Amino acid sequence: MKIPVALELKLPGHIGAFHASEPFADMEYLGRTLRFAAPVSVDAEYVFDGSGFSVKGTLKTSLHSQCARCAKEFEEPFETKFDERFEKNADEDGECYGFSGEELDVSQMLRDAILLNMLPYSVCRPDCRGLCPVCGCDLNTAQCACAQEAAGEEPPSPFAALRTLLNDDKEV
Ligand SMILES: [Zn+2]
Ligand SMILES: [Zn+2]
Repeated sequence: MKIPVALELKLPGHIGAFHASEPFADMEYLGRTLRFAAPVSVDAEYVFDGSGFSVKGTLKTSLHSQCARCAKEFEEPFETKFDERFEKNADEDGECYGFSGEELDVSQMLRDAILLNMLPYSVCRPDCRGLCPVCGCDLNTAQCACAQEAAGEEPPSPFAALRTLLNDDKEV
């Protein structure tokens, strides 16, 4: 995905607006494959300050995901913001992105933004009950007797820590 910047190169300080939508190829992330269910749609503003561009905005797409608890396949909306810098003579340290000519190639920046903001796993809904660890039935749609036999211990939820945090905040 490329932002044409011929005008802005001549007009430092002029804020350009960019909107585009483009299908992205699958990406590898923490041993799983991110499969896009929709094109990546970008809304961005960009401005040239004489040496480089600041580019910020929002990207939206959706992914074919699989629930980490119940294994159901579902379409997961994904949205993140970005605020990055493009320099004509970018160094290799990755502090900013490079550009040449009269366009900014933002594809790598967008892929990085997706990976940086991707959750390590997906759940079909926050309160998904998952599969029974004993008999494997889907606890969202079925009820088995296994839970009563096990001492009623709730499996540790990644949201439990967050919930504690939020409750603490409320009491302050
Ligand atoms: Zn689920
Ligand atoms: Zn069971």
